[in-house]
Amino acid sequence: MDERREVPTLEKEQKVLLMVQNSTFLPTYNEPPPTAAEYLRQALPLMSANNIPTDPINYTIWYEYVSGKNVQLKQAVDEIISSGGQFDSNINQQLYKKYVCDDSIESIEHIRNNLLNLIGSTMDTVELTNKKATVAEESFSSKTENLESAVDVNDIKSILNDIILETRELASTSTLLKRKLHETNQEVNSLKNELEKARDSALKDGLTGLFNRRAFDIEMDKIFNNNPSESQISLLMFDLDNFKAVNDKFGHLVGDKVLKFTASLLEKYAAPEHMVARIGGEELAILMPDTSRQNALFIAEKIRDKLSRSKLQKKETNETLGKITVSVGISQLRTDDDINSFVDRADKALYRAKENGRNQVIDETLLG
Ligand code: GH3
Ligand code: MG
Ligand code: MG
Repeated sequence: MDERREVPTLEKEQKVLLMVQNSTFLPTYNEPPPTAAEYLRQALPLMSANNIPTDPINYTIWYEYVSGKNVQLKQAVDEIISSGGQFDSNINQQLYKKYVCDDSIESIEHIRNNLLNLIGSTMDTVELTNKKATVAEESFSSKTENLESAVDVNDIKSILNDIILETRELASTSTLLKRKLHETNQEVNSLKNELEKARDSALKDGLTGLFNRRAFDIEMDKIFNNNPSESQISLLMFDLDNFKAVNDKFGHLVGDKVLKFTASLLEKYAAPEHMVARIGGEELAILMPDTSRQNALFIAEKIRDKLSRSKLQKKETNETLGKITVSVGISQLRTDDDINSFVDRADKALYRAKENGRNQVIDETLLG
């Protein structure tokens, strides 16, 4: 009976399998046509200068490169250029796989195949047990009939012997099934962990642990596909002030730590239902569903204030990093918005915050 109770784990496996099958991580592009055309104008001469065939895969790499949004890809390509490396077809494929398509697709494929094998072999064991149980049932009922009509002691003894043997065989099949289901359970758990890791690396930023640009774009698409005009949605765009100078003065590693610290402040003050993402090199964003402008302003101001008061130091030397600040732009969704107009207004507000002297929050309503 025990094994009966364990059978529902198969349903769980199937759910995981469905989850895996539904995972697609296609790159998404929301640029308006003139911007996309500008990227084309910039990408083609670069590809030609580096002897790169203009096939769709390579074009995607260079489109993302000139857009500047795929920071890791840009760094990897710049490194190849500065070290005098060649963009052969192998390198191009690697760049595409790692920075555009993401390795995680491969891990997800791997998990999917493992799950399929696992389900197949578990089903085989279940089927075998079922078959043996059916055979035993038939044999038991014919033995019962024989027993009813048997009068000879030796006949009865021989029937009983047969029953003992068959019962043993059935017990061993049942033990096999139990063991198999136990192994399946363990393997499903480890595949689930692998799947979570793969999903994390596809949607999370490695440095800060925030959601990455891809996750942010997917969430935006979801919002705009779900009749967004019915709710109040605010968007906060953050850009660290004079961050290049921080890197130049203290080094890139210290710069990375400042970025991580800033990211942690955003996570700390955002509400659980808000989405905090790193959408560019030193650009972060919070997408706030069901949040009024007033509340969005309050949170932005709190983060700006906390960062500017943080006394950051270089760990090894206790050297102070001076005042680290961030500028913030805010927009709130309008009924006639599309993704671009919504993001564009937050961007413009951020730009105004920079123009006005940085270390400030500007709401789009102040743009005039
Ligand atoms: P502004 O106040 O106008 O934003 O000035 P800025 O220096 O921050 O702006 P700019 O766009 O000129 O420079 C952004 C810098 O951010 C350049 C780049 O080196 C740095 N940066 C981008 N991504 C990373 C990163 O992952 N780590 C570190 N340490 N620096 C990064
Ligand atoms: Mg910037
Ligand atoms: Mg900056």
